[in-house]
Amino acid sequence: MDFQHSPKAQDFLKRVKDFMKNEIEPVEEAYLRELHSLDNKWVVLPIIEELKAKAKAAGLWNMFLPDEHYGAGLSTLEYAAVAELTGRSFIAPEVFNCNAPDTGNMEVLEKYGSPEQQEQWLKPLLAGEIRSAFCMTEPGVASSDATNMEATAIVEGDEVVLNGRKWWSTGVGHPNCKVGIFMALTNPDAPRHQQHSMVLFPFDAPGVKIERMLPVFGYYDEPYGHGEVSFTNVRVPVSNIIAGPGRGFEIAQGRLGPGRIHHCMRLIGMAEKALELMCIRAASRTAFHKPLMNLGGNRDIIANARMNIEQARLLVFKAAWMIDKVGAMGAMSEISQIKVIAPNMAQQIIDAAMQMHGGGGLSDDFPLTGLFTAARALRLADGPDEVHRGLIAKLEMMKYKKYMKEA
Ligand SMILES: Cc1cc2nc3c(=O)[nH]c(=O)nc-3n(C[C@H](O)[C@H](O)[C@H](O)COP(=O)(O)OP(=O)(O)OC[C@H]3O[C@@H](n4cnc5c(N)ncnc54)[C@H](O)[C@@H]3O)c2cc1C
Repeated sequence: MDFQHSPKAQDFLKRVKDFMKNEIEPVEEAYLRELHSLDNKWVVLPIIEELKAKAKAAGLWNMFLPDEHYGAGLSTLEYAAVAELTGRSFIAPEVFNCNAPDTGNMEVLEKYGSPEQQEQWLKPLLAGEIRSAFCMTEPGVASSDATNMEATAIVEGDEVVLNGRKWWSTGVGHPNCKVGIFMALTNPDAPRHQQHSMVLFPFDAPGVKIERMLPVFGYYDEPYGHGEVSFTNVRVPVSNIIAGPGRGFEIAQGRLGPGRIHHCMRLIGMAEKALELMCIRAASRTAFHKPLMNLGGNRDIIANARMNIEQARLLVFKAAWMIDKVGAMGAMSEISQIKVIAPNMAQQIIDAAMQMHGGGGLSDDFPLTGLFTAARALRLADGPDEVHRGLIAKLEMMKYKKYMKEA
């Protein structure tokens, strides 16, 4: 394994770094202040479209897609370092058209979409003209076990009828969120993992209703947000089923591998940002006649943060390298390992950074509460820690099958 960045990755890294320094950092604070001052925060401010146009013109666009036909042609490993940089900013992922859940949805359409589905939905998503949502989790059932899903997608002639209620559908508050992927039960008599389908639906279809937006620790994460959405006899053409009925789980496996690791890459960037703020505060503020860094165990806190980031980054790189070499299925354990490690590591470091900032750390004067909220949420989104630990243990124990006693 060689984690030296390839010349192509180095080129992208430099250009993304420069773009973030010259275009995003100077305007991000003012952008967030302006957005938060509005009565209606579910809007796209002109600066975002201006930045998107600049990023696109600079070729810093769709960098998450390894296929050169659609994206920048970076491997998962090459993209890892780039995504880390974008994790330092709240707006960079959208500016580069690399934000969740659009990235995972675009990957699904690229891999499994019909030419018609690609023309209608993938093309405008790749162009950054529209946004999307992924509607799987339901309020009524424990959705960490996706086979519990009760929403239905029933084929009737040349239509498929959607019914049910979803929540935590990320991105539905965005004014450009035009399409969603609805995962639901199509055939309860089929084998367990062939019962569900993924169906594309337009948000303006009759019967689709955003019931409410859900806060995370009081944050609504405008203009993206997380919504509760009801589906009442929503009728869409049967051709909207991705890859055909019953293939929902198969697609979900493919979708969640790269999607999960992209979050982990950004979490490394979030942790780096928190450590940077922590060190600046520790060096520049004085208490009891000493800089904070020389009080109590603060140097240990800083050292532990550095070590934990380095460990997590190496595992992100390894998981990314394995996705490139053996595919998401072959990297299942590593993807789950980093999906547990990265948000926990980031959460802990951001928490320590808040502590080092005293009361200021909990205010909006620093981005730490926003970072903390995002890291904490990622211990649930894309599967809770416990489910991933369960998978890691299962894969580990498979090596010792011969010792297992019949239950
Ligand atoms: C900010 C945010 C954004 C999200 N975005 C999306 C999205 O865009 N689309 C979408 O469909 N969903 C999304 N989710 C939902 C997320 O994927 C689910 O919350 C998650 O999968 C858990 O499902 P649940 O909430 O039903 O919890 P439950 O299934 O009720 O589980 C509750 C708890 O039980 C425990 N548990 C469950 N299984 C096990 C196990 N095997 N072993 C040990 N303990 C276990 C865990 O502690 C778990 O947290 C998002 C969630 C958040 C918070």
